[in-house]
Amino acid sequence: MLLYNSATRKKEEFVPHTEGKVSMYTCGPTVYHFAHIGNLRTYIMEDVLEKYFRYVGYDVKRVMNITDVGHLSSDADTGEDKMLKGAKREKKTVMEIAQFYTDAFFSDCEKLNIKKPDVIEPATNCICEFIEMVQGLLDKGYAYIAGGNVYFDTSKLKDYYVFNNFDAEDLAIGVRDSVSEDENKRNKTDFVLWFTKSKFEDQELKWDSPWGIGYPGWHIECSAISIKHNGEYLDIHCGGIDNAFPHHTNEIAQSEAYLGHEWCKYWFHVLHLNTSNGKMSKSKGEFLTVSLLEEKGYNPLAYRFFCLQSHYRKSQEFSFEALDNAQAAFNKLVARVAALKADGDVDGAVVAEYRQKFSEVLGNDMNTSLAVTSVYDALKADTNDATKLAILNDFDKVLSLDLVGEAKKYNEKQASAPANEEDAEIDALVAQRTQARKDKNWAEADRIRDELNARGIVLTDTPEGVKWSRK
Ligand code: AMP
Ligand code: ZN
Repeated sequence: MLLYNSATRKKEEFVPHTEGKVSMYTCGPTVYHFAHIGNLRTYIMEDVLEKYFRYVGYDVKRVMNITDVGHLSSDADTGEDKMLKGAKREKKTVMEIAQFYTDAFFSDCEKLNIKKPDVIEPATNCICEFIEMVQGLLDKGYAYIAGGNVYFDTSKLKDYYVFNNFDAEDLAIGVRDSVSEDENKRNKTDFVLWFTKSKFEDQELKWDSPWGIGYPGWHIECSAISIKHNGEYLDIHCGGIDNAFPHHTNEIAQSEAYLGHEWCKYWFHVLHLNTSNGKMSKSKGEFLTVSLLEEKGYNPLAYRFFCLQSHYRKSQEFSFEALDNAQAAFNKLVARVAALKADGDVDGAVVAEYRQKFSEVLGNDMNTSLAVTSVYDALKADTNDATKLAILNDFDKVLSLDLVGEAKKYNEKQASAPANEEDAEIDALVAQRTQARKDKNWAEADRIRDELNARGIVLTDTPEGVKWSRK
């Protein structure tokens, strides 16, 4: 598979560290609020990547953290802990909101057919691992203690600026811009590994450590959780593009300093979902959730379809008009699949031919929009319906649009529609008869009863009114 590697800024052949196996790490959600559909765009694209690896035969182990501590309002170690902010907003404890939003996140994922990672690890489960790693960095001289906090010393590295296209000066401005500068830092790009002192005293979750009671920095959690579950060599690390700097840059710095060798070979970054006001973000407060889309009558899978139509390395513009188009195209596709009849035998050679083409487009830096085109091609294939259905089921192992399942629901709805219509008509006649009786229009009431009788409908008077049944 050819995959763009943000670390080298090139498309490269994907070769995992151990043949046949892929170790994969995903930055999980910060569970202080609902995931917005921008976050979920990232998780949808990562889901496609994971499923593609499995599709072509790799044994994948995917690990995801849940950020329930340490992610401050600014990625550059300043501001309040996002979890604390969420807890205050909802007048609950940090652990209560963490549980609530973790459950909400996985429920959204389920609606979007995003598979659960093999390992899901809340940061608060791994305090011992963080302490061990911070201690290791101090022992090796990569970290220092200042003003009670433990910092990573970026000047000890040969090469710190892995992902960014900026120079050191730009980064320095970035730090300067992000509120008050931390006087304890030796270098502008140094970052906190463990906090014992911060500008806010009411941090709810704190743990004892060799450096005093405190809590971990955000970056250390992903390095330590990944190393805990995927070992010293990670094949691929995923996240949204905003995580590239400083989060992933700092993960690389501390992991490689700690391990003493290269840690993760491939970096997969998904570009943002934007609205006309710019990047969709939780902190801005105004954002769209899967539940909101459902309330507005959209099928969550139509949103997945919308995401698949564009490439993960391009930012995607969200508008309701664009989503309406995706929903309409998705519905049409479902109706076409619903018209297929599982007649005859599956032609294995045709399935293999389509599988090959599908695999090629995804194998070229995950071109999901061409993969969607393959679905239309399969529907036009010169073969029987049973073979088309087999191809669609095969593609669905990666695309997870559940076209065949949706088509089944569509057919069931169509089949029950006439009965529903007739029921509604009878309800209306019964209501008309009740009204006629109220109006003492006995002739009209009798006429309706006779009409219903002729259609095989029996009327019974009950304390709740007139009920009807079929003879
Ligand atoms: P968070 O819950 O804020 O830690 O973010 C969860 C994931 O969503 C991370 O991988 C982010 O990089 C990603 N993300 C945040 N905003 C967007 C967006 N507007 N579009 C796509 N991905 C995003
Ligand atoms: Zn992370």
